[in-house]
This record gives sequence, C-alpha cells and structure tokens, in this order.
Amino acid sequence: MTILPETALTYDDVLLVPQYSNVSSRKKLSTQARLTNKIELQIPIVSSNMDTVTESAMAIAMAREGGIGIIHRFMTIEQQANEIARVKKAESFVVSDPITLTVNNTVGEARRLVDETGTGGILILNGGTQLVGIVTTRDLLFEHDDGKPITLVMQHKVVTAPADTTLRQAEKILHEHRIEKLPLVDEQGRVTGLITLKDIMKLEQYPKATKDARGRLAVGAAVGVKERDLERVECVLKAGADCIVVDIAHGNSEQEILMIQNIRKHFPDTQIIGGNVASADGTRRLIDAGADAVKVGVGPGSICVTRLVAGSGVPQLTAVIACVGVAKEYNIPIIADGGIRHPGDTAKALAAGADTVMIGSLLAGTDESPGLSMIRKGHKYKVSRGMASTAANRDRKTRDGERVAQEDLDEYVAEGVEAAVPYRGKAREVLTQLVGGIQSGMSYSGAHTLQEFHEKAIFVKMTGAGLKESMPHDVEVL
Ligand code: 5GP
Repeated sequence: MTILPETALTYDDVLLVPQYSNVSSRKKLSTQARLTNKIELQIPIVSSNMDTVTESAMAIAMAREGGIGIIHRFMTIEQQANEIARVKKAESFVVSDPITLTVNNTVGEARRLVDETGTGGILILNGGTQLVGIVTTRDLLFEHDDGKPITLVMQHKVVTAPADTTLRQAEKILHEHRIEKLPLVDEQGRVTGLITLKDIMKLEQYPKATKDARGRLAVGAAVGVKERDLERVECVLKAGADCIVVDIAHGNSEQEILMIQNIRKHFPDTQIIGGNVASADGTRRLIDAGADAVKVGVGPGSICVTRLVAGSGVPQLTAVIACVGVAKEYNIPIIADGGIRHPGDTAKALAAGADTVMIGSLLAGTDESPGLSMIRKGHKYKVSRGMASTAANRDRKTRDGERVAQEDLDEYVAEGVEAAVPYRGKAREVLTQLVGGIQSGMSYSGAHTLQEFHEKAIFVKMTGAGLKESMPHDVEVL
C-alpha cells in the first residue's frame, strides 16, 4: 500500500489569482481550442456521450456554436449511425439527395411530400434521371385541384449549375436570377444535388460552426470495448463521424488499450479519443496505444457515485494537472470530463491545461437534450442520469431484448444516479454563459489565448471559509 503525499484538489479548492491584464474587451478573446490535433473548435466545449445529453439535436447545436457533441452509444448501431447522419445533413450547403417527383405525379402528391418532409421545393424528373422542372411551395399555394398533373403547375425553365459549383458561385447565381433554389446537374442533365438560399443563410448565422472537410457539421460517436463495437465503429464512420470516443469508466485497462489498438489497425486515419483516466500513468498508456486525445475524470460527474461505491477516483483538478503533464510531452490534447457546475470551473479546468471540457448535466437541462421535461413543485426540470445508474442499465437490457428481473436489478451495483436538473432553455444560452466565464477568467489572468491562459495561470488554494466567501453570502438571493 502507498499513500501519496500530495493532497488532491478539485475546482472548489482553488481560485485563479488575478494578474496584470491589457485585455480591453473580453468578448473578443479567442477561445479556439483543439479536440484532437486534427479537429479544431472555436469554443472548448464538448457535450457528454450520455443518453440524457447528446443525440443529434444536441450535437447540431454544439457544432453550430463552435463546440462538438459526442453521440452516446446506448442505442442500436443503426440508430447511432442515423443520429450521426442527421447531424451531417443539418447544415451542408449542398443537399446531396434532393426530393424529387416525376412528370407522372400530381399536385396532391407534391403537396403531401411537402407536408411530410418540410421541403420548400421538389425537383421534377422526366421519369428517368433528367431534370425537367421544379415545383416550390409557392406554386402549390393557390392550386386547389389535387388531381392536376404536376407538369401543369411546375416551372419549366429551371436555372441549374454544374455539380462542382462553389458556395461563392452559387451565391452569385441565386442573386443574379433572384431565385431561392439551384439544382446541380452533371453533363448529362442528371441531378447531383440542390443548393438553397435557406441553407446558405444558415451558414452565415453560425460563423463559428465546427465543420468537416466537406462543410458539414462535425460530430463524434462513442463506442464500447466489446467485440461488436468494431462493427459500431465501422458504421458510425461510414455515417460520417469525425471522431470515435472509446467510452469506458476505467480507461486505464487492458480492454481499452486493445480497443484503441484495434481501431487504429482497422481504421488508421480515425481520430480516437480514449478514456476515462485520472492519472499520468493512464494517460501515457492510452497515448502509447494510439489515442489522439485523452478524456480525464474518474468520479467527478454530477450523477456519478463511483467514489462512494468503489472508493476510487481522483479529485478532478489534480487529475487534470497530472494528465496534462504527460499529454504535453506528446502534444496530445486533454478533455476534462465531468464536475463542471459553474462557468468558473470551466475556466479553472482550462487554466490547469485541459484543452477542452466535457459537460453532462448542465446541458441535460436544455431543449436540445433527449427526453421530456417535467414540472415539480411549480418548476420545470429535465432528467440527467448516469450511464451506470440502475435506470440506464434497466433500459439498456430492455432495448437488447433481455429479461429484466428484480434479481438482476438487485444484483447490479450502480455507479451512477438518476436526477432531475433545472430546465435551462436553449443549449446556446448555457454555452454563452460558459464561454463568457472562460473569457472573463482569461482576462483576469491577462491571457489572450487559451494557451497563454495555461502558461500564465497562478492558482491559490483556499479553505472552506474562502469558498464560503466566494458564494453570495449574508443576503437572500432573489
Ligand atoms: P457532469 O458534467 O454531469 O458533472 O459529468 C458528466 C460526466 O459524468 C460524463 O461525461 C461521464 O464521464 C460521467 N458519467 C456519466 N454517467 C456516469 C455514471 O453512471 N457513473 C460515473 N462514474 N460517471 C458517469
């Protein structure tokens, strides 16, 4: 047995000492960060791969704001691949599989398609693959005869562009012709895609968005370490996942190392995030196995009871500092996962050298998290639950078609709980507060970049009295 001489610390044990600063506007400070050496983010925030936090809606919101979401793995492989595909379709300026009808269809059929898909325009083909017309919602608006052939209401003169049209060229054509839809066709007149004004406007609405090389929103996928998980990796990569998170509670383990090595062997160019670990030794092992980033945190999560059940874990600030020490030797980024309750915790994690932070419960309360909201004692809440909670385990077994008997549940040793979290509006609102806190923290340390923040940061330890003084006190908060 060994007892380490060092006292381990977490976010509440320290503060950042304010230093001379020449920052004139906090809002302009760059929060550019790297998730891995190949995936750059404009805000250093990642949403947790939990079933109450990240599915496609959250991942879309995260990527639009400049962060990234990791789709959880507690669903079938097909469902997870579908979630990834949804993110990929959300914001590309070219719709690669536009909605079409043929000259044999009717106005009623077009109207139904518009209702079902929400599309604003349908391309009309000649029965084969040749484009012969276009129908927009405006063409259908005052047309009351649903039996009328679509050819009598469609626009026959369609402005088209070549398949390799760039964004700037498309903008010019849309503007010159005062049109909203631009079908792309190849040399034989076959449709290869569709560019719409609406999609281009969306691009401008989210200037910080995290994109892949094809201009689609970036997204990650979590996988486990079982045999079928390699199949999961293959499917989510095919669907467009930009990185794979090998997600197990105790990442400093043989199974995790083997999985990282296997992914590297079968899918060599994949960005792999390993975790979770809480020590320098664990970090080195995952990096040596081939990880492109390491996720740190054993037991800091809001819905986690690992430390109570297993007596194991490391307070998060000390864990981050220890892992950053090794990761820097290899120039590999660190993700500080769990335990973020206030924007100031995020600032402390980044000042300690983490490149990004992963957030669960704070985001579970937003509109974009999966799951319904509820009212308790007059206040609105959503659910956040540990992926090792009894409830998550029961649902997992039910989904896999296993019998869930009372004895199974009695025997399950949960390392997570199910909880209600306050409703927090849109994910964007939470991210605004977190990013504002990071920028403010940078400004108090006189830092212009996150790199400089880490280099300049001076932490001071504090007592319980210091923490008490840091909270609103001797007043009744309204
Ligand atoms: P939060 O941001 O809510 O404080 O922490 C979220 C993190 O808690 C997740 O990203 C994940 O690493 C961790 N986590 C999620 N579910 C469980 C669980 O059931 N047990 C443990 N030990 N950790 C969990």
